[in-house]
Amino acid sequence: MGLKEKLSQYFGYDTFKDGQEKIINATLNGQDVLGIMPTGGGKSLCYQLPAIAMKGLTIVISPLISLMKDQVDALEEMGVPATFLNSSLDDATYQKRIEGIRTNHYKLLYIAPERLCAPLFLDLVQELDISMVAVDEAHCISQWGHDFRPHYKEIPGFIKNISPRPVVAAYTATATTKVIQEIKELLALQTPVESIIGFDRPNLFYQVIKTGDKFAYVRNTITKKFSGQSGIIYCATRKTVESLTEKLKNLGLPIGAYHGGMSAENREQSQQDFINDRIPIIVATNAFGMGINKPDVRFIIHFNMPQNMEAYYQEAGRGGRDGESCDCTILYSPADIVRQKQLIQLNQISPEREKLLFENLQYLVDYCHTNDCLRKKILQYFGESAGYERCDNCGNCLDKAEMVDISLDAQKILSCIYRMKNRYGLNMVISVLRGSKNKKIIAFQLDKLSTYGIMKDHTLESLREIIMTLVAKGYILVTADEYPVLKLTATAGKVLKGDEKVYHKKHLLEIKTDKTKTMA
Ligand code: ADP
Repeated sequence: MGLKEKLSQYFGYDTFKDGQEKIINATLNGQDVLGIMPTGGGKSLCYQLPAIAMKGLTIVISPLISLMKDQVDALEEMGVPATFLNSSLDDATYQKRIEGIRTNHYKLLYIAPERLCAPLFLDLVQELDISMVAVDEAHCISQWGHDFRPHYKEIPGFIKNISPRPVVAAYTATATTKVIQEIKELLALQTPVESIIGFDRPNLFYQVIKTGDKFAYVRNTITKKFSGQSGIIYCATRKTVESLTEKLKNLGLPIGAYHGGMSAENREQSQQDFINDRIPIIVATNAFGMGINKPDVRFIIHFNMPQNMEAYYQEAGRGGRDGESCDCTILYSPADIVRQKQLIQLNQISPEREKLLFENLQYLVDYCHTNDCLRKKILQYFGESAGYERCDNCGNCLDKAEMVDISLDAQKILSCIYRMKNRYGLNMVISVLRGSKNKKIIAFQLDKLSTYGIMKDHTLESLREIIMTLVAKGYILVTADEYPVLKLTATAGKVLKGDEKVYHKKHLLEIKTDKTKTMA
């Protein structure tokens, strides 16, 4: 039976999705592969189909326990013998499955990484004919990725112990060069055939909304624009999930909640209610969603700014799986940046990793402040060129806001940073520009600078907005330190000399205070 026939017989599809055929052919040829495809790109078929065609057993290593059961059920339905081993099984079931594996009953075995070093399993592996090890969510092996899982470090040793060496197939939706390099090295992939599949999701409408009243935005979205439709609202903390859920429920809206602090039972209930359309909207932390494949999610709101672009892309990518449109909105407020920084600092991590996390966060801050095409900015992050200046399907491309020339304000700010010798953070720069009598300003004699008080007619919020815009445009660099400092970049000179003009949306310069700041 040819490949196409297998595709149609087992999976019921007539054609391959982008990149699938290349990966499948290479796998069947005995070559290692690295599939970099966005969520929903169809990576499971890339290892399932060869697994069916190859003679021995395929081991799929996956961190997603909920997904294992779904996939195994789906395979069994197609008539492919498959099973999984993870911590959810009781002893008797576990033993029974081990026996089934020993007697070559299965074509595919899904296993959680922490099970790899169980002695019983390791002994068993020596007896088996293993044709392929497929590593799902392979970026979890990378310390630089956003989702490092220590047990992934066991995988290379595990593969080494299998003789003859099986085909190693790695899959991820993370395409940053550093992470890709680390996956290749750590998994010791042997000249892998790589396939990077387009990260563009044209049906997702990206936008960033700067509003002083986030709650009103959410309420309007649920009751008006997307009334009765399915959506996910992501929050940065469990506390925000709880308070927002309660406020929305008080309005009589059908809302579920999901976060890591809830009992496993309640989480499962929320997830099932959402997937089965009993409750169309879920308010959740980033604990929700890995492996969720609900096709008709019409809006994804980030009530707080996510920590990095990879996480954002994954979370927003849970919308519009059916190919129909989905609004992906970040509700931006400067308070969120502070909170995300605190969340980074809460973890005991190495200074290098902390620096990287701050850099990643900064990319997202830039994303929130850019006036350029948002889709282009996302693709740029993943190393893909958009091939256009404007996508005409994102908040920025469709924004008809009046633009005003802020070159003079920009010059004042840049020269103030220059006079402050590139040594202070955002709040100090703003304080000097507004002529604050703050003790520190006086102590450091910053009140003697010629730029002291030259923007005292501006509100704190509008100054912050302009400065962050200058950061997004690349004239100012925010250092990735615990106490970030503003520094001028080489291009700042062009604005200072008047060779380059700076424009910004008029209404954003009139931002008032952020009422949601008090909502944790
Ligand atoms: P990923 O694991 O990359 O997030 P999945 O493997 O879950 O994505 O696939 C996403 C969706 O695409 C699934 O609903 C799957 O059935 C579908 N799919 C996969 N391959 C094909 C194909 N060749 N033709 C049509 N649909 C496909």
